[in-house]
Amino acid sequence: DGGVDGGEVHPRWIRVNGLKSSVNEQLDTTFRGFEVVKDVGEVMKAVSPFTGKGKGQGPRRVICLDPHIPNLIAASPGSMDFTKTAAYQTGAIILQDKASCFPAYLLDPRPGDGDVVDACSAPGNKTTHLAAILHERRRDQQKILAFEKDKRRAQTLVKMVRTAGSDGITVVHPGADFLKTDPFSAEMSRVGALLLDPSCSGSGIVGRDDTPEFHLPEMATSTGGGKNGSERNSGKKNLKRKRAPSPPPPPTAATVLVDDDGTETVVASEKALEARLEALASFQLALLQHALTFPHATRVTYSTCSIHARENEHVVLAALRWAKTQTPSLNYSPWRLLPRSAQIRGMRDWPVRGDIDACEGDEEAAQACIRAQRGDGRGTMGFFVACFVRDLVPGHTNT
Ligand code: SAM
Repeated sequence: DGGVDGGEVHPRWIRVNGLKSSVNEQLDTTFRGFEVVKDVGEVMKAVSPFTGKGKGQGPRRVICLDPHIPNLIAASPGSMDFTKTAAYQTGAIILQDKASCFPAYLLDPRPGDGDVVDACSAPGNKTTHLAAILHERRRDQQKILAFEKDKRRAQTLVKMVRTAGSDGITVVHPGADFLKTDPFSAEMSRVGALLLDPSCSGSGIVGRDDTPEFHLPEMATSTGGGKNGSERNSGKKNLKRKRAPSPPPPPTAATVLVDDDGTETVVASEKALEARLEALASFQLALLQHALTFPHATRVTYSTCSIHARENEHVVLAALRWAKTQTPSLNYSPWRLLPRSAQIRGMRDWPVRGDIDACEGDEEAAQACIRAQRGDGRGTMGFFVACFVRDLVPGHTNT
């Protein structure tokens, strides 16, 4: 949310929505008077009034332009309540954690990819990011098909898509279970890329171990529109953040897990946590397998805001193993992970990669996987993403 998380200052991440505005326009308006610095470390140090030069003088207003994700800005926490700005209210800016911007950017849908599916969409951060990317590349004719199983959360999705000006290129399927979609139906016949961001343990979310006494005054009253606020709270009951052991996990005695979609589970022991993770991982794998069966898909991202290998690298490796057992496609090469060297520049340059042990010692797979870690000085939430790709066999067409 922008604030102090387990002792580390967290910046406020702001994505400028290319469908409604530009970075230059926002620098001239919303961020007028802000000091522009070179890196996020400086932004995080500017967390007055508790520390730094500005102590006792009110919050310093500092921003930096993110070097990895285009149109992303980090602002010093407490510098401003962005949810009150015209830019936020009109969808010109979207409060979205840097790591949450990785999937749409890594998916990097190609002109030949046709339509793009967002399989688990609400509240719509990644859907609207995808829409902005397609728009910036002048590819508004490519449609986004957005699925969301939970009807209540789907309402938020519809609202966010509209506010962000993405409704022209997004077809929302409220209440639709992605697992029940028919990949071979006429509607899916043009789908070439899928973004899969399923429910997970949410263990990477900033604020799990919030310590209220460290909160800046502005952040003590969550508006539900904050970075993770916009990710977690919009359109559903305003989730009270439960205190969890710090750092979460590993849990010891009773721990309350709050999934990123709001489901609360009391986990009484490490064994129970294992069982919970196991259940999540099989659900995540089922969704991923479904995504990989789309007949014309050549790119699929899989992401979670979990820190557990069980929900991340393990699911990815299991999906690859499963894909090998399927009847090979005549038109496409087998699915593989998009290697780091072939990833879009910002993602290739991002230094935090998959866990080598969780990848069973496969260095290439670990490098292909992208992680973000809370509390490592880079100012992000805990996150994981990997991209599956396959190539059209020469002589075949993808229609
Ligand atoms: N991608 C979203 C964003 O960036 O704003 C966050 C998605 S959240 C992690 C996962 C979402 O998937 C929840 O809203 C949940 O209701 C939805 N979901 C879970 N299972 C689903 C399914 N089988 N089909 C469609 N949506 C599903």
